Amino acid sequence: MLIDILTTFPEMFSAEAPAALGLSIPARARKASVVEWHATNIRDYATDKHQKTDDRPFGGGPGMVMMCQPVWDAVMAVEAKDPRPARRVLLTPQGRPLTQGLVEELAKEPRLLLIAGHYEGIDERVIEKLSPLEVSIGDYVLSGGELAAMVLMDAVIRLLPGSLGAEDSAETDSFSAAEAVGKFGKDLAGRRLLDCPHYTRPREWMGMAVPEILISGDHEKVAKWRLEQRAERTRARRPDLMGPE
Ligand code: SAM
Repeated sequence: MLIDILTTFPEMFSAEAPAALGLSIPARARKASVVEWHATNIRDYATDKHQKTDDRPFGGGPGMVMMCQPVWDAVMAVEAKDPRPARRVLLTPQGRPLTQGLVEELAKEPRLLLIAGHYEGIDERVIEKLSPLEVSIGDYVLSGGELAAMVLMDAVIRLLPGSLGAEDSAETDSFSAAEAVGKFGKDLAGRRLLDCPHYTRPREWMGMAVPEILISGDHEKVAKWRLEQRAERTRARRPDLMGPE
């Protein structure tokens, strides 16, 4: 997969450690050529001599608005650099909430073009012309779209084949639509459950023992127990994920 990010802070996307994307799974995936990403500075496409990308809002009021022309020219130039069709994504608090379902959908794309806004946002006319998928990472306002773009990238990259080793499979992660869920309970089929609790050595810590079943060696029973835990947790913590009973 190729990911292009249009931003006025391309340094934030450096793949060299210690930047966020230069560590852990995204860094490994990039090294293994599972994904590549390039951050392009929208400012490079500004035509005025001060490389201005924003201006005062029509109608008055506080803040600045990102101008159409630099954003449009940056998108056109970056898209022309690679023949793969890019799914355009604009990060905005007004967009479709980013869920695991949407992450799975985006992970199937050959190419993503992420647009990070700043200030009050981007002139509505260029949004209309580009008609991107508008995505929000939650009901709160960040100062810029860069962190939102990184959240989306991290969630997508870990689903790309070859990103995760067997030791950290995404199949039983919270919100994943694992097929195995339907094996033990028809009512759970297709549900996006939370993950089960996890334990590691030592068997006893501060007088607290690991659940007996996990050391029984009975894989079928362990799988059933884990699924029950997932269902129980989801009912208790996120009943909205269980749907109507
Ligand atoms: N005036 C805008 C509004 O209220 O909808 C908020 C602009 S915000 C200060 C600046 C930029 O941060 C946005 O253009 C967007 O790219 C990004 N941003 C802020 N919150 C976000 C969120 N929850 N999800 C995705 N992007 C966000």
